[in-house]
Amino acid sequence: MARQDTIEGFCWLCGRFAKLTREHIPPRAAFNNKSVLLLAVEENTRETGRLEWGGKVEEGLIVRSLCSECNSRGGAKYGTHYVDFISRVAPIVERAKDREQFIVSGVGRPLSILKQIMQSFVSANGPSFVEANPWIRKFIRNSRNQEWSPDLFAYIFATNTRGGRKSGLGAFFDFGRKRIRTVAEFSFWPLGMVLSFDSLDEYPVTPIHHWAQYDYSWPGQLDINLVVNPTSSAYALDFRTRAEMNRDAFRIEPRPKVAGETLREVMRLAQARGGGKTTDRWAFVTNQRPDIEDGDEE
Ligand SMILES: [Zn+2]
Repeated sequence: MARQDTIEGFCWLCGRFAKLTREHIPPRAAFNNKSVLLLAVEENTRETGRLEWGGKVEEGLIVRSLCSECNSRGGAKYGTHYVDFISRVAPIVERAKDREQFIVSGVGRPLSILKQIMQSFVSANGPSFVEANPWIRKFIRNSRNQEWSPDLFAYIFATNTRGGRKSGLGAFFDFGRKRIRTVAEFSFWPLGMVLSFDSLDEYPVTPIHHWAQYDYSWPGQLDINLVVNPTSSAYALDFRTRAEMNRDAFRIEPRPKVAGETLREVMRLAQARGGGKTTDRWAFVTNQRPDIEDGDEE
């Protein structure tokens, strides 16, 4: 049977019923007419990983998520600024090693870049994400809008890992830090992006939520400090190298314990913030199945 090219549905951004177009995340334009960049991406994605890449692997992921109006508005208003940013990051990342820190200078139009990143998350996080966080609709659809929710934190980092990872919005219990995190990560060489419902000060990621405070046409330039993080596992915020993951797999540690109450809270947060009916949006970052302590509450 021929592939169906016309798919109608509710647009994940504006919510209207319309023909849904193919949205490239990250935007396809990021790699158009930039032969140097394209070569680098091919080099980095040759043995691509876990995601299903649409078309040529260097184009990223294709999702039918947005109506044509939402799709083309994003491309026209934010695409070029995002492309300019990526073309500054890519040549540095190519030469950098994991955990290295570097500065990208001359970054212009920060609000526009933030809006493009949010649009990528709309397509990466599934059809219910905007419904659960409705302010995002206005933020993306109106280029001048600067209203950012104080509950949401956005970060970026550099990555040299081949391919990419897309976690969707999920909650997990960080055993090391004993905290529940509700995050979404979308990474595709050379940039990783994270949305979080808590501040992530203790992770090697660079905050960008305050870019909402710049006017859309702000004429200045920023210098941005980025860390190169490996994104080898399937889990958001897991920045271990492949060697570290292999080593951890053989390490024998006491089984971690988690309270049943914590587990229920993880599931509740994932549901409330991700929207929709999905119930499997939570995970534990650990190499051992934890013991669940449930029953009598103190
Ligand atoms: Zn739309």
